[in-house]
Amino acid sequence: MGGMEFEQFARWDREHVWHAFTQMQEYEPWLIVRAEGCELIDVQGRRWLDGVSSLWCNIHGHNHPKLNRAICDQLEKVAHVTSLGMGNLPAAELAYRLVQLAPPGLEHVFFSGDGACAVEAALKIAFQYWQQCHPSRPSKTRFVAFEDAYHGDTLGAASVGGVARFHALFRPLLFEVFRLPVPDSYRRPKGMSLEEAAGWYLEQLERLLRSRHQEIAAVIIEPLMQCAAGMVRHPPGFLAAARRITQQYDVLLIADEVAVGFGRTGTMFACQQENVAPDILCLGKGLTAGYLPMSATLVTDDIYQAFLGDYGSGRMFYHGHTYAGNPLAAAVALASLEIFEEEHVLEQLPPKCRRLEEHLARIAELPVVGDVRQCGLMAGIELVKDKVTGEPFAWHERVGWQVCQRAKQRNVFLRPLGSVIVIMPPLAIRHEQIDQLMEAVYEAIEEFTRQTAL
Ligand SMILES: *Cc1c(COP(=O)(O)O)cnc(C)c1O
Repeated sequence: MGGMEFEQFARWDREHVWHAFTQMQEYEPWLIVRAEGCELIDVQGRRWLDGVSSLWCNIHGHNHPKLNRAICDQLEKVAHVTSLGMGNLPAAELAYRLVQLAPPGLEHVFFSGDGACAVEAALKIAFQYWQQCHPSRPSKTRFVAFEDAYHGDTLGAASVGGVARFHALFRPLLFEVFRLPVPDSYRRPKGMSLEEAAGWYLEQLERLLRSRHQEIAAVIIEPLMQCAAGMVRHPPGFLAAARRITQQYDVLLIADEVAVGFGRTGTMFACQQENVAPDILCLGKGLTAGYLPMSATLVTDDIYQAFLGDYGSGRMFYHGHTYAGNPLAAAVALASLEIFEEEHVLEQLPPKCRRLEEHLARIAELPVVGDVRQCGLMAGIELVKDKVTGEPFAWHERVGWQVCQRAKQRNVFLRPLGSVIVIMPPLAIRHEQIDQLMEAVYEAIEEFTRQTAL
């Protein structure tokens, strides 16, 4: 294709495509035509190391032959089957496999299309469960969520979300939730050690549930790391303790593993790092290895049972999406799980994580870096005005963006969150690519510091 034709596509893209989370007034078309492994290839043939896994969903690299084949094979059979009163083979097998892999007790799988939809389903299931369980507890209608939580952009998911910059404007449309302080290991309550802070965060949860559990249907949490909050790491043990407290007060625990599931933290699911089995588990992003939209809400048998009854009882779950349980998506998700086994993906992670850790240790020394925090093969690098006090940059200073622009000049694609540089490469990234990625980040931060004379 010649340059002229590309210009036309760029014009169409700029004039007609409304991009997500993008100020269109300043948007410059950047069109990807192909990808190989961890590299994206744009219309000019330039290669970009994908440092954020196509926004956190790619696992085994792009254009993986086995994943490609799984879709093509299924395509020859049937591309879509409704999940309303009907099923298909790949979705049935995928549900079975997910139940095998998930923490114990999660036995039933409700499929949707996107992460936000998995969360919407989880919230409605939790709500309806208390209306219908034996004996029913109709007063348990409210949700507990954390500050800076991110669970997607539909209205239910945004209601439990707490990122002010994304959600504040829509507040009048959202339902009220109980909000707990974000269990942040870096920005702790004044004067507290990490251990003291961990205790204090748990105390807030315990106190709330003790006084209001009669009204509370569920607590929703992003296990271990609140990614969209700016890669905020919870104190070790927080998740396990939250599980104990929710159990003690008869409140459901919804684990939103849309971002942290599928090997990202080093185990298949983040909950497994603290031996936690939630009542409801939300999966998305990596479920299809970043190939097709699909998400899943897994629930315990106890929850599922509350929805059973004869037709006239009206106990069914009145909720669903047209493309839920799509066989093409299920086929590629199954192939992704096979790759986890065949290519020993989890077994190969520890040395990669150590490599990342070494680079992060070097980056942590830079004067503008306030904190680095890693969880498996993902990390956040927080840039601050003052390394000693941790005084943050204002979001409109766009310091993360400025660093990522400089990484882009070094052929690395990154997308920051405010002042936090997000490192989330495909699990398939090779050691030398980790070096390339992190060298670019180091140089970009250094250059940014020099040029802005901080
Ligand atoms: C991305 C994300 C979602 C939303 O998923 P979408 O597929 O973008 O709707 C929900 N929860 C968490 C934790 C996420 O990171």
